[in-house]
Amino acid sequence: MAKQEKTRDYGQKIASRAEDFAAWYNDVVLGAQLADYSPVRGAMVIRPYGFALWEHMQRFLDTRFKATGVENAYFPLLIPESLLAKEADHVEGFVPEVAWVTHGGTEKLEERLAVRPTSEAIMMHMYSQWVQSWRDLPMVLNQWNSVVRWELRTRLFLRTSEFLWQEGHTVHATAEEATARTLQMLDVYRAFLEEELAIPVIVGRKTPSERFPGAAETYTAEALMGDGRALQSGTSHDFSDHFTKAFEIDFLDRDGGRSYAYSTSWGLSTRTIGGIIMVHGDEKGLILPPKVAPVQVIIVPIWRKDEEQETVRAYVDRVQAALGSNVRVRADWTEEKSPGWKFNEWELRGAPLRIEAGPRDAASESVVLVRRDTREKQPVALADLSGRVDALLAEVQQSLYDRALAYQREHTFEATDIEQMLAILDDRRGFILAGWCGSAECEATVKERTRATIRVIPFDSAGRAPCPVCDTPDTERVYYARAY
Ligand SMILES: [Zn+2]
Repeated sequence: MAKQEKTRDYGQKIASRAEDFAAWYNDVVLGAQLADYSPVRGAMVIRPYGFALWEHMQRFLDTRFKATGVENAYFPLLIPESLLAKEADHVEGFVPEVAWVTHGGTEKLEERLAVRPTSEAIMMHMYSQWVQSWRDLPMVLNQWNSVVRWELRTRLFLRTSEFLWQEGHTVHATAEEATARTLQMLDVYRAFLEEELAIPVIVGRKTPSERFPGAAETYTAEALMGDGRALQSGTSHDFSDHFTKAFEIDFLDRDGGRSYAYSTSWGLSTRTIGGIIMVHGDEKGLILPPKVAPVQVIIVPIWRKDEEQETVRAYVDRVQAALGSNVRVRADWTEEKSPGWKFNEWELRGAPLRIEAGPRDAASESVVLVRRDTREKQPVALADLSGRVDALLAEVQQSLYDRALAYQREHTFEATDIEQMLAILDDRRGFILAGWCGSAECEATVKERTRATIRVIPFDSAGRAPCPVCDTPDTERVYYARAY
């Protein structure tokens, strides 16, 4: 056998996760065929396998949204500059990364149009037309779309110039109602991340300097990646009346007077796919949570001689039939790849369960079932297969969550000064629980010296400690980390 063929027999080689996490990440995205680079700098192509993953995520999230009364709509891609400029903090925050349309064909436009970096401006403008009286409130709309933010340094899924997301925008009659909606959507993200993506998160508030441009309060769900860096995985913003005043969304209230409404927005993007990869992956590649995996069970048929193929084919049909239509199952019949290659390939692509079926399995009416997360093998009788697969998919989902939570806890450290923080960040990496006096200067000093930022001020009190910069005693503890 030629050397090259022998290499092929063991599948694609990917960088070591332990030795070079960044290279490993790229190899997994490309090798698992989730996404690819495009000729447009900084923009990526999401391949069918990656898009199917996104579709499953969408389905779960959309169902959760609608259960809270959200309706979907669609607003235009292009936003007139004058609209974007209406809320001062908002435009200041986004201008450095806005892409502009200046020409229509050969005609120069009278007013530049922004390719939406987010849709507050256009949606608030429309709401100002639609909201007349208290009877029109609340307005609770979401759109599934893409946005463009001109990024200089990009990474597949984590930071691309164009990305897919959903953005929900609501207006309410009272400040209390808007705040309640902001928190409700944060909890939708928390539940989605934890229950469907098996990613444990810390929920709470952002500091003023980390808030979304124009927000009175930004809430976040922060997750810890496998290299000890944090990923903001869903944010919800309470705008108070900042946007509604700028966009003149006022209404006739119940007492016959006019009041300004209160608004919120909340979003979760394809960045979260980067989170799935970095939280659950291992040296062999991706591990997908069963609930969102495009292929939950991959069947690798094994045959040596042509005459065995017929027997195996008939048997695999029976295996597929036994699994029914509730499980997403695929049989890999590719002829030019060996079973060993396919094992590796589907481990790289993260299918939660693998079934191996050959002539001997056909004869004994059983299969070999292999878990992707533990790589544990077990023989299962065909008669028991369906129940066993259902149970194992649920077990893998749970154990991915448990494993990620254990990792998060083991990588959450305590520190009382900057030297300790630096030692932790350089050596063990992870979340650091330390105090914060509330001053922007101390926050900036930590960032400058350690490259770690305050990721979240948790809702659940994390105790008290001195501020690591100014030594003010007994301040609220917050989560610091280096982040994506
Ligand atoms: Zn301080």
